[in-house]
Amino acid sequence: MSGTNLDHEAAASESFDSIRAALFHPMGVPGVYARTAQYEDVLQRLSALITRLRDPRAEVLRFPPVMSRAQVEKSGYLGSFPNLLGCVCALHGTEAQILQAASLHEQGGRWTDALEASDLVLSPAACYPAYPIAASRGPVPAGGLLFDVSADCFRHEPSRALDRLQSFRMREYVRIGSPQDVLSFREQWMTRAATLSAELGLPGELDVASDPFFGRVGQVMAVSQRQQSLKFELLIPYAKGVKPTACMSFNYHQDHFGAVWGLHDASGVAAHSGCVAFGMDRLTVAMFCVHGLQPRLWPDSVRRALQM
Ligand code: AMP
Ligand code: ZN
Repeated sequence: MSGTNLDHEAAASESFDSIRAALFHPMGVPGVYARTAQYEDVLQRLSALITRLRDPRAEVLRFPPVMSRAQVEKSGYLGSFPNLLGCVCALHGTEAQILQAASLHEQGGRWTDALEASDLVLSPAACYPAYPIAASRGPVPAGGLLFDVSADCFRHEPSRALDRLQSFRMREYVRIGSPQDVLSFREQWMTRAATLSAELGLPGELDVASDPFFGRVGQVMAVSQRQQSLKFELLIPYAKGVKPTACMSFNYHQDHFGAVWGLHDASGVAAHSGCVAFGMDRLTVAMFCVHGLQPRLWPDSVRRALQM
């Protein structure tokens, strides 16, 4: 790495340090933070801006931070990202068994050894629960379906960097329909995202991307995903010269979820799907990194976009 890059990395980590001190409170575990009112205000304003861009036909669904373990298993998540998934575990059994396990803690033992998986996982992305809900309604109507979803997501990435959290907010627009429906939806949103980042004064760039598939087989999956241009990201450098951070993604799943959930049109043709994901926390951190810690001093055009 060149000296210049090192300087920029140092600048980024310095700006993270001041943002962490001003906008977050540590909660004892890396990548999990309490957020201040000022941070939350910006996040909510970004969220409102995204809502103003919503197609009026979108159906709004707000998901809790947990979802069905069986649904995540069926979606194929364990085949791609087993390292990132968090499962909700609990003490099962009789009163005596539960008390015995809990008392292990008092004796300096590991009560957690007695845990068993429940039927919930922590949602790894906001859109997963949308597909089974859509499938439960029967054939996909002509013209397809559009959802506006959000969830608090969990990924097991205990990093100290503010742009790689374990618990973060994700908003998504999800399109289900023909390949053409989905691809033109994605295209439209990639154009819109470029406008959006300009309005927000963020130096964003779109680029083809791949998911962090696990292991050696995962590397092959990532290459294939790139070759087919199934994923794009909006990349924003948090400081001049540093490696940019993916703040939005534009995903085409082909007929993966259609096949998994039996989503098809009236004539039985499998539905395709795609989603546009907004990393709400990454976008909010980007705003403070790029424009500074005091929103009242942000450029007028940016304040107008956020209706400040
Ligand atoms: P993905 O499903 O990986 O494309 O994630 C969608 C968006 O969520 C990304 O573009 C990021 O903005 C955001 N995101 C993903 N992982 C994290 C993380 N560990 N911390 C914060 N935001 C994240
Ligand atoms: Zn999605």
